[in-house]
Amino acid sequence: MAIQTATDYRMFIGGEWIESSSGEWIEVRSPASGELVGRVPAGSEADVDRAVLAARAAFRDGRWHGKWIPERVAILNRLADLIDEHTEEIAVLESRQTGTTLKLRRDSDIPFSADNLRFFATAIRHLEGKGAAEYTGSHTSLIRREPIGVVGQVAPWNYPFMMAIWKIGPALAAGNSVVLKPATATPLTTLRLAELAKEAGVPDGVFNVVTGRGEVVGAAIAAHPDIDLVSLTGDSETGRKIQALATSNLKRVHLELGGKAPFIVFADADLEAAARGAVAGGFVNAGQDCTAATRVYVEKPVYETFLARLAELTREVRVGDPFAPDTDMGTLINQAQVQRVEGFVERARQGGARIVTGGRRAAVSGLEGGAFYEPTIVADCAQDAEIVQQEVFGPVLTVLPFETEEEVLEKANDIRYGLASSVWTRDVFKAMRAAKTLNFGAVWVNDHLPISSEMPHGGFKQSGFGKDMSSYSFEEYTQIKHVLVELSGEAEKGWHYTIFGDPKE
Ligand code: NAD
Repeated sequence: MAIQTATDYRMFIGGEWIESSSGEWIEVRSPASGELVGRVPAGSEADVDRAVLAARAAFRDGRWHGKWIPERVAILNRLADLIDEHTEEIAVLESRQTGTTLKLRRDSDIPFSADNLRFFATAIRHLEGKGAAEYTGSHTSLIRREPIGVVGQVAPWNYPFMMAIWKIGPALAAGNSVVLKPATATPLTTLRLAELAKEAGVPDGVFNVVTGRGEVVGAAIAAHPDIDLVSLTGDSETGRKIQALATSNLKRVHLELGGKAPFIVFADADLEAAARGAVAGGFVNAGQDCTAATRVYVEKPVYETFLARLAELTREVRVGDPFAPDTDMGTLINQAQVQRVEGFVERARQGGARIVTGGRRAAVSGLEGGAFYEPTIVADCAQDAEIVQQEVFGPVLTVLPFETEEEVLEKANDIRYGLASSVWTRDVFKAMRAAKTLNFGAVWVNDHLPISSEMPHGGFKQSGFGKDMSSYSFEEYTQIKHVLVELSGEAEKGWHYTIFGDPKE
C-alpha cells in the first residue's frame, strides 16, 4: 500500500513502496487551507540509482516490451478504466494538493487523462515506418521501431496527474521502462497512479516513481549514465539545466517548457466569443497553464469596447474554496507563486500600465491564509514590458492595442516562447495568413485551449522540442532500426572487389 498512515506515502520502485535512503520527508500542504495533505520521502541520488536499476532489469528481461502488443494494450486500457472508476477520488486529492477547483479536475483533466491513455493503447497498434523494399536490388530493407530503453521523466505541478499521463502514455505504450519524478509540491496523485498501474498489471520495475526535489532527484535523472532519454515538462530555465546534464551520456532530450500565448482579436471577430474565450483561456487553472492566453492584442477600433467587456466578464469569475461547487478559481500553487505574480503586477503598475480589474490578493472567508489572487487585467502595456515578455504563470491577462495585421503578427512572434497562440476573426484569409505566420506549436482559430489526444502538443523556440500526445510523440519514445537482409546467397558479392580482388567479368 502507498499509504502507511493517514498522511505518509512511500516512493514506488521495482514494484515496492519504499522510504528514501535520505530518511527525510517532504510535507505536501493544501495551498487553500494549509492543512497537511500528506508526506512523501525526499528522494536521493541513491534512490534514483535504485529506480534505474529496477527499470533496467525490467527492460533487459523484456517483461514489458517483450509482451505481445495486445497484452500491453489490454493493461493500458485496464489502467484507463481504473482511472475512470476512481476519477472523483483522484480529483479530490489533486484539488487538495494544488488548491485548484474540483470541477476542473473532476470534469476535465482526470477524464482526459484516461482518454489519453486509451489513445496510446490504440495508436501503438498503428505505428508506421517505411514499407519493406529492395533498394539495392539484392537486399530487402525494413524498418523496426523499438523502445528506447529506460526513460527518465520530470513533471510539473500545474496538472500533476495529467502531466504524468502525458509522459507515461507514449513511453509505456512503446515498451520503455520509466523512472518518473513528480513535482516536489504535488506528488500524491502520481503515487496513486503508480498504485493503479500495478493493479492494472504493469509489471514491477516498468513504472517507478521517485519523489523529491528537482535539484536532487530531477538532476540525478538528467545526469544518470544508464538513462537513455530524459523528458521534462517545466520551466525553460529548468530545461536548460536538464539539457546540460543530459550531455554526460548524450541521452536524448525532450522538453515541454514555458509559454506566453498571444491572443489576437481583429475588429471583425465575434467580440463576445473572443471576450469569453480570453477569460476561459487566461484564467484556466488560475492561469498556471503553459498554453494560457496571456498577451491579448486587440485591434484599435474595438480596443476599449473589448476591454470593458473583458473586465466585466473577469469580475464574474468566482474565487473561493476549491471544493465549493460555485467556485471558478481556487488558489495558486503556493504563497511564493502569489508573491511572484504580485511582483509582476506591481512593477507593471509602477511602469504606467493600467490595472483594469484585480491586481491584488483575493480574500476568501474561512481560508484567510490561502494562496488566492484575483483574476487580473492589465491594459496599455508596452510590448517590451516585463509583464508582456516573461511568463507570469498566474491569473493575469495583459491587453495591448494594434493597428495593422502585419504589426500584430510581428508583435505576437516577438517573444522567446513558441508554444500556443490564437487568432479571432471572421475573415478566412486573415485567419489562414495568421496560422501560417505565427511561430508557435499550436494556432487556434476562434478558440483558445482545446486539445485532443490525437493532436500533437509541443513548442517552438524556447518552449522546447518534441511532442506530447498524438502519434508524433512516438518519435520521442521509439528509435528506428534499419534491418537489411541479403537475398542472393552468393559468397562473393559483386562489390567485394572494391575492398579486395579484381572486378568479376
Ligand atoms: P519547474 O521547471 O520548476 O519544475 C518542473 C519539474 O522539474 C519539477 O518536477 C521540478 O522538481 C523539476 N526541477 C526543478 N529544478 C530542477 C533541476 N535543477 N534539475 C532537474 N529537475 C528540476 O516547473 P514548474 O514550476 O513545476 O511548472 C511550471 C512550468 O512548467 C511553467 O514554465 C510552464 O509553462 C511549464 N509547463 C509546460 C508545459 C508544456 O507542455 N510545454 C506544460 C505544463 C507546464
